[in-house]
Amino acid sequence: MTYIEPAPIKDKENPLESMMQRFDAAVKILGISEEMYYILKVPARQVTVGLPVTMDNGQIKVFEGYRVIHSTILGPSKGGIRFDPAVNIDEVRALAAWMTWKCAVVDIPYGGAKGGIACNPREMSAGEMERLMRAYTISMLDIFGPDKDIPAPDMGTGPREMAWLMDEYSKAKGMTVNAVVTGKPLVLGGSLGRTEATGRGVMVSALAGMEKLRLNPYRATAAVQGFGNVGSFAAKLLQEKGVTICGLSDISGAYYNARGIDIEKTMAYRNANNGTLDGFKEADLITNEELLALNVDVLVPAAKEDVITHENAANIQAKLIVEGANGPTSASADDIINSKGIMVVPDILANAGGVTVSYFEWVQNRIGYKWTLDRINRRSDRMMKDAFDHVFETSQKHGVSLRLAAYIVAIDKVASTYKFRGGYG
Ligand code: NAD
Repeated sequence: MTYIEPAPIKDKENPLESMMQRFDAAVKILGISEEMYYILKVPARQVTVGLPVTMDNGQIKVFEGYRVIHSTILGPSKGGIRFDPAVNIDEVRALAAWMTWKCAVVDIPYGGAKGGIACNPREMSAGEMERLMRAYTISMLDIFGPDKDIPAPDMGTGPREMAWLMDEYSKAKGMTVNAVVTGKPLVLGGSLGRTEATGRGVMVSALAGMEKLRLNPYRATAAVQGFGNVGSFAAKLLQEKGVTICGLSDISGAYYNARGIDIEKTMAYRNANNGTLDGFKEADLITNEELLALNVDVLVPAAKEDVITHENAANIQAKLIVEGANGPTSASADDIINSKGIMVVPDILANAGGVTVSYFEWVQNRIGYKWTLDRINRRSDRMMKDAFDHVFETSQKHGVSLRLAAYIVAIDKVASTYKFRGGYG
């Protein structure tokens, strides 16, 4: 299964605009000056390149590639590379800002970046993909670097593409530089624990939220939308902590069993069934809309953006929503959910376990040592829990939702670091 570095997918309801609305609201609460507002908003660097690639039919095709460094105030910038026909500079710019806030909220010493190439990986051969990735790497030689800008996979790219990037960059530098990119195959210096890291962070966030709501995991029930990388590991780990998983869903439909669903068996079923739950018989078939409205304690949207909207938010019965996906709740649904008293652990906090273990991959590469899985899990659990506590305290202090509090924590961190460092003016 390819994994995706935290990043939302743009669609008609535009989760990126939802992010900007929340950013603006947090800036207002913090009372940030207009100058600082633009320092935080305008990307530090934007690069567009033309990439001529010889296709399998012998013809040369020119692709457009981008890299946007939103901020390097906290450290080298970090963010995935997306291969998708819809990639454009505006989207990459917004996704780069999203990475800045995500890294800041979990206290990782990184700024935010994002890259992309407008191409269709489904229509390209492995050879064409490799030539494109290598051409992109060469064109970004003075942008990328373990101390400057560290890419990772995103939509349409995975460990294979990261291996090509690392190889091309290393050849150009005349030495092996595995810390230039994360999300590599294990043998090239990838980290143990990365595959389940995001789901694991969702589990830690869910338990932290349940503790605040005084929900006992052994008596609690949950529904998980999406049974891919994030959803299946979140469900499995929550079940291991005692939570009864009554509802699950994927692209084939949703499944409900009040007595609980055995997640390990269900993962085995999915793996043997072309990656979907189609035909799953251990639960009743319901719709994805019904799954969102189930009478459970915890709801984990872990499929895609904009699934909780002003149209269905009123139907939600869960006491706690933990956002495994990026942008699953549109800004217009926030008020409805808040007025119902539902606690939401927002995406930039709840799904940051993935970027946390990517950070660990970079740390291990730089010290030339491999940590055990146990050490990685303990450290990422602690970072996720600390981040949750910080966001929770901030929400109490300002009397705002956890979502707004997460933006306040992130923006405050970047703004105050900028002030200490001093600008050019
Ligand atoms: P994935 O492709 O492994 O899984 C997606 C799952 O959602 C699949 O089970 C798919 O069938 C299901 N799905 C798709 N459309 C659906 C629909 N309309 N209704 C119900 N289910 C549907 O993807 P993933 O890596 O698990 O990512 C899921 C979300 O989490 C995305 O928003 C992604 O950006 C975000 N995310 C992922 C990571 C990571 O490390 N993988 C990190 C942070 C955020």
